[in-house]
Amino acid sequence: MPAYTCPLVALAVAHCGLELRLCDLAPGSIDFDAGELARVCDRDVLAIVPTHLAGRIADIDTALAIARRVGAFVIEDAAQALGARRDGRPVGFEGDAGFFSLAVGKGLTTYEGGLLVARDPELRREFARTSREIVPRRIGWELKRSLQLLGYHAFYRPSLLGLAYGAPLRRALRRGDPVAAVGDDFSLPIPLHTLGRWRQSVGARAFARLPEFLDACAAQAQRRRAQLARIAGIDVVDDPSGAQGVWPFLLLRLPDEATRDAILRKLWGAGLGVSRLFIHALPDYGYLQDVVGEQDAPNARVFAATTLTISNSPWLLDEEFEAIRAALESVLARRVP
Ligand SMILES: *Cc1c(COP(=O)(O)O)cnc(C)c1O
Repeated sequence: MPAYTCPLVALAVAHCGLELRLCDLAPGSIDFDAGELARVCDRDVLAIVPTHLAGRIADIDTALAIARRVGAFVIEDAAQALGARRDGRPVGFEGDAGFFSLAVGKGLTTYEGGLLVARDPELRREFARTSREIVPRRIGWELKRSLQLLGYHAFYRPSLLGLAYGAPLRRALRRGDPVAAVGDDFSLPIPLHTLGRWRQSVGARAFARLPEFLDACAAQAQRRRAQLARIAGIDVVDDPSGAQGVWPFLLLRLPDEATRDAILRKLWGAGLGVSRLFIHALPDYGYLQDVVGEQDAPNARVFAATTLTISNSPWLLDEEFEAIRAALESVLARRVP
């Protein structure tokens, strides 16, 4: 697994009784360091998990080449990339298997849940059989998730976001707890259960509206990315050529941690949709200590320390984006080169 990704993936690996082996990122990239990936993969490796982080398209070819050499599977983590394509083909289908998250905060949502896909019909049947065997129906949890989804529907609107999302975020920031601020604290056990009919139908109905929504978001992201590109020192993480990622937010790389933090002091908690992705590289989460152990990942640490996100929601108005742009420009202009 990449050393910078969602901590839940590390917990899933541990849940399956597997050993987690990390691979560092290439400098400034969401992709694996290819040399290190080749070094850490041997016959003990069951699966390599390249990750389409932030809607960007990850390099699957390198993982596939190495996986074929050592007899491993490739599982694409497309949790943040539902609808993304490379050369016209949807991500998640180039490896042996792929998954998409429908958890709250990932856009199209059933509050919790997701999609597991595989090109090979036999593997797909095996996934379905295993799911029937190990995933129980749990009425209590289904009821709870359904109520949460209804609550989400009630509060997910511009006038109430400040109350439902902004207030807890600012409380966490005041406590000096960035992990809670971005919702990275997954120290509690995760209930495993099937997704009920009603929530499935909510997801399926939203799916029909997805392409139009993604197109509007992509158009907005292109415009705003071009504006940010004019500020020296800002790198908006982008796709390789031939790729059409999705744009839930813009992921920005800053020259150093001090500059990134100066920007966050102005904008995180300002109600403008500026935040961070995962707070730490995986070895630096206390609650993952037993899962990760002693593994080093210098590039992943730098990535965690120098990146921030800007929401690409259609609700972030042009004048609000302009306030963000101006703040970025002023912090970067004051920076001593
Ligand atoms: C959210 C996320 C996951 C986990 O998805 P769940 O549906 O919450 O289990 C995995 N990988 C990445 C990159 C994610 O962002």
